[in-house]
Amino acid sequence: RARQAGGGTWCHAEATTDEELQEQQSLEQDLRIALRDGQFSLAYQPFLDAATMEVAGYEALLRWQHPRCGAIPPSAFIPVAEASGLIVPIGQWVLATACAEAVAWPQPLTLAVNLSPAQFIQPGIVGTVADVLRQTGLPAHRLELEITETTLMDDTQNALRVLQALKALGVSIAMDDFGTGYSSLGYLRKFPFDKIKIDRSFISDVEEGDAEAETIVQAIIAMGRSLRLDVTAEGVETAQQLAMVKALGCTFVQGYLLGRPGPVGFPDKVADGTYPPPNSPAHPQSAWE
Ligand code: C2E
Ligand code: MG
Ligand code: MG
Ligand code: MG
Repeated sequence: RARQAGGGTWCHAEATTDEELQEQQSLEQDLRIALRDGQFSLAYQPFLDAATMEVAGYEALLRWQHPRCGAIPPSAFIPVAEASGLIVPIGQWVLATACAEAVAWPQPLTLAVNLSPAQFIQPGIVGTVADVLRQTGLPAHRLELEITETTLMDDTQNALRVLQALKALGVSIAMDDFGTGYSSLGYLRKFPFDKIKIDRSFISDVEEGDAEAETIVQAIIAMGRSLRLDVTAEGVETAQQLAMVKALGCTFVQGYLLGRPGPVGFPDKVADGTYPPPNSPAHPQSAWE
């Protein structure tokens, strides 16, 4: 029977301790097979320039279609991939595949790729990114790497060196899920970020009447501005949230209201010169979320 695992459903497990271990091993094994057999794909979610509401780029999000279990969400398998080290080859696949696909996108669009902590601390990570850029021909300035604070906590000296080396390649760095970690403020000052992405939990609290949430979002945006960082509001789901984060001065907006994760397609450049996001609210495509 189905069982909750890390927020997702893992399909062939029984809930005893021994079998939890087996489940983990089986999940690991299945992840290996998934990588070998091409069961992974990427969904792309747009982020928009808040001032012009044009698509500025797309974030690559990993999707796994399991042959027996169907679609398994990242929350159910990324932690296991991370703990087992499998996230390194999986993340390598994500980076190479996303960069290869993004080369064909219209010129100004940026590709954002999530880097996990285990991937980031690989001794060869800078060389890996450089190799992928060279092999795919994606200009470095079109790639943005998203990392979380967790990535920076263990060995800040090494993290700083790696970030500086990545910046030297010409890629940009975004701090993802901002506000959910521990030392946000110190890290922003110490590390060479280009962008912070306000965690969607803050955005979802910004509703009419929630003055505190609004104050927090406002403070994050003000801080980002004074540090000359772009600020993305993640998880924008309602017109009201959009109006709020725009009024507060967010640089970029991202969320289901503006476009769901999905296959990238640029069917037509619409009349006003903007690129319509795939799976825009009129055509939600929940299978890719
Ligand atoms: P994230 O990088 O913060 O990505 C945003 C997540 O929020 C995505 O979930 C996205 O589908 C979801 N989302 C976007 N807009 C909205 C919204 O308006 N409302 C709600 N409720 N959700 C929204 P997803 O794709 O399930 O990914 C979850 C997390 O898994 C990601 O969070 C990221 O940490 C991780 N992940 C996904 N793909 C990769 C990958 O290729 N590599 C690594 N290392 N981690 C990944
Ligand atoms: Mg992200
Ligand atoms: Mg995020
Ligand atoms: Mg997140």
